[in-house]
Amino acid sequence: MEKKTINELASYVDALRPIIYINNFDFKMVDDLIESVIGKAKCLEYNNALGEIDFHSKHQIRKYNLVEFLEANLENGFDNETYLVLKDVHGELKSPDVIALLKRISENNIYKDSYHEMVFIVSEVTTIPIELENYITIFDVPLPTQDEILKIINDFITDLSISVDSEVINEIALSFKGLNEFQIRQILNLAYQDGGNITKNDIHLILREKAQFIKKSGLLEAINFSGTIDDVGGLDNLKKWLYQKEKIFSNLDKAIKFGVDVPKGILLVGMPGCGKSLTAKATATLFKIPLVRLDVGRLLGKYVGESEENMRKALQLSEAISPCVLWVDEIEKAFAGIGQSGGGSDVTTRLFGQFLTWMQEKDNMVFIVATANDISKMPPEFLRKGRFDEIFFADLPNSDERRKILNIHLKKRGKWNKEIDLISLITATEGFSGADLESVVKNTIEAAFISGKDTITTEDLLDSIHETKSISDVLKEKIKNLRTIISKFDIQPASASDSKG
Ligand code: ATP
Repeated sequence: MEKKTINELASYVDALRPIIYINNFDFKMVDDLIESVIGKAKCLEYNNALGEIDFHSKHQIRKYNLVEFLEANLENGFDNETYLVLKDVHGELKSPDVIALLKRISENNIYKDSYHEMVFIVSEVTTIPIELENYITIFDVPLPTQDEILKIINDFITDLSISVDSEVINEIALSFKGLNEFQIRQILNLAYQDGGNITKNDIHLILREKAQFIKKSGLLEAINFSGTIDDVGGLDNLKKWLYQKEKIFSNLDKAIKFGVDVPKGILLVGMPGCGKSLTAKATATLFKIPLVRLDVGRLLGKYVGESEENMRKALQLSEAISPCVLWVDEIEKAFAGIGQSGGGSDVTTRLFGQFLTWMQEKDNMVFIVATANDISKMPPEFLRKGRFDEIFFADLPNSDERRKILNIHLKKRGKWNKEIDLISLITATEGFSGADLESVVKNTIEAAFISGKDTITTEDLLDSIHETKSISDVLKEKIKNLRTIISKFDIQPASASDSKG
């Protein structure tokens, strides 16, 4: 157990916080932590299944329910310094009697100098009744640091008397980042049983196990994307930037040791259908790391604190599977209603604050790709330097980009041929988005198939272009407004500056 963690919990205990909610499933580890903090002081444990049990030996003492347990021990704090450890009682925290008793203990603590009794609630599920909100302090046991992970691995191989190359240990340690000690040991055991040793190949096992954690949680969505960055036409400035960062992600351990800061992420703003989501997905392929999507709507819960708890877990999970790309689609909608008061928007404001703090303090290998259509709705805090490494604006494709996008979609469907006069197509598609161009190609190919043709011609494509209502026709005003807003911020164009418009 790291000294910093013990000190942090001790500081809450010294500050006489009446109820400390430790959000963890690893009871053995939490017991050790509590013991390190309270020393030999009187400590009584309540377990939902067994009633009162001895904190040290874990023997059952009395088959109480929680109300009986709290009533019996309410006055202890007047005689001795006492700690109550309540495990897995989240289901009981709806009971008015339990709430009233916990409130009584808390108030005694605060208002009666001679009273010293504190409660630790230990559970994997955080349920905080409104009546106790002011008395409860949530304590998250920090995940092991890189040095601690190395120690866990080294202890493991020493115990088994196996020898593992130090370079392998370093690489494996990096992919363990974000997991807790229990999970790390479990995976090490699995890897060892698999081949009788720990090898570089076990990184795949770690990634597979991490994907399991995502599925089980239901908080993040793992996305399989088979495309590559070559599927993105144009946006050369943005792609150049990503290619540079790829050099870091493909040699993370070396880069970190060299003193390089791990890139935090980017915000892609721009017109609908201009390749923002496509680039977000292709980034994961380029960096050769998993892609997960954070859907803020999915995190919203019914109970007080549930949404914040889900957000905390989702962010923690993204760290657990890192290095990864965390894609937040339509971020301006995800955090809509920020700053307004009442109901759902209070929750959104809190979630947003939580996300911002996480981004600010982020010291992990999660690369965020946030995408947004409407920057006017974005809270200005998001646009401040330091949150994202860069903000890029994906405008409607210029002529060179339209040529590239048309080529990509024609080639993808095996219908590219050198007879096609791209110049006339480019001229006719001024104001089209990437998605518009894709649908022109799709519609032309479909029409050709229906009328029994083998190939498609420039005329077929031009016909389909004339039938298409481009985004510029549909969203004229919106596009104008977006460009005006963008011009007021310090945002890089995603397209290369030497491309012709
Ligand atoms: P929205 O803001 O509506 O989510 P977006 O900018 O994220 O839009 P995408 O979802 O990336 O747009 O684009 C939709 C589809 O259009 C893509 O799947 C792709 O097939 C095509 N497309 C858009 N831009 C490009 C591009 N630059 N190169 C190749 N294809 C593109």
